[in-house]
Amino acid sequence: VKRGAGAIGPGLIVLALAGCAAVPAPAPPPVVAPPRPARAVEGDFALTGRAAQGVLLFGTAPPGTVALLLDGQAIAFATDRRFPIGFGRDHGPEAVLEARLASGDTVRQRIAVAPTAWDIERLPTLPRGTPQTDAARRARADELARIEAARSLTHDVAGWRQAFVWPVKGRISGRFGSQRVYAGEPGAYHSGVDVAGVTGTPVVSPADGVVILASPPAFSFEGNLLMIDHGMGLNSAFLHLSRIDVRVGERISRGQVIGAVGATGRATGPHLHWGMKWRGERIDPQPLADATTLR
Ligand SMILES: [Zn+2]
Repeated sequence: VKRGAGAIGPGLIVLALAGCAAVPAPAPPPVVAPPRPARAVEGDFALTGRAAQGVLLFGTAPPGTVALLLDGQAIAFATDRRFPIGFGRDHGPEAVLEARLASGDTVRQRIAVAPTAWDIERLPTLPRGTPQTDAARRARADELARIEAARSLTHDVAGWRQAFVWPVKGRISGRFGSQRVYAGEPGAYHSGVDVAGVTGTPVVSPADGVVILASPPAFSFEGNLLMIDHGMGLNSAFLHLSRIDVRVGERISRGQVIGAVGATGRATGPHLHWGMKWRGERIDPQPLADATTLR
């Protein structure tokens, strides 16, 4: 086109183009396939067991998963797409698990979370207690901040996949989730499982992990406190210990002695209180330790 443009007047260009086969036709616009609309399909994450309040389950995300969400919040999953998922003591009746795939599609599973019948004891009287001083309240706030900070630490450990073992064997003296209601006023529920024992009895780690908190100093309520991260947002807390044998940052193997049973902090007698959390959800350690299957 440019060849002739200088020599011929503008009026003739159109004619020249129309009549001359030698002028190459302008390249057609590239053919782009319309994007396939992303699909949202119902799927199955092959969850182990039955979803219920206080229960930790395990699942597998579909192939091609790039993000996994529980009720809209991103949750972690392993390279083999396995993941733990926990429902807290007071979780509502439903949860939605969603995988976003590399293709743009989403796979969704609605989960019915069954209620659990917790041990509730109703007492006609108000609890006996001494009023807290401002100093004690401030000290407690510092302790809780320390615990929260420890829980926010995550490590690349696979303890969450293992079959958990009991940290100490003995009579269960307190169940997770139990609660006293004083003259209609609910007290705090029991946040772990208590195993009665003799002071000095060795406590072992229920699964592999990394120590994220270890007394001293002793905590006002928890006494000598030890916390272990098992990976994927799952952690354990061991309370009232008489002795702690490991340090913050140390990698721990399942079955390794980590301390000993005691009655430090607010405890009426020597026992191990074992609490577990998955992200913000408090879960019952007992069914985990009673299960013997690998994840
Ligand atoms: Zn307890």
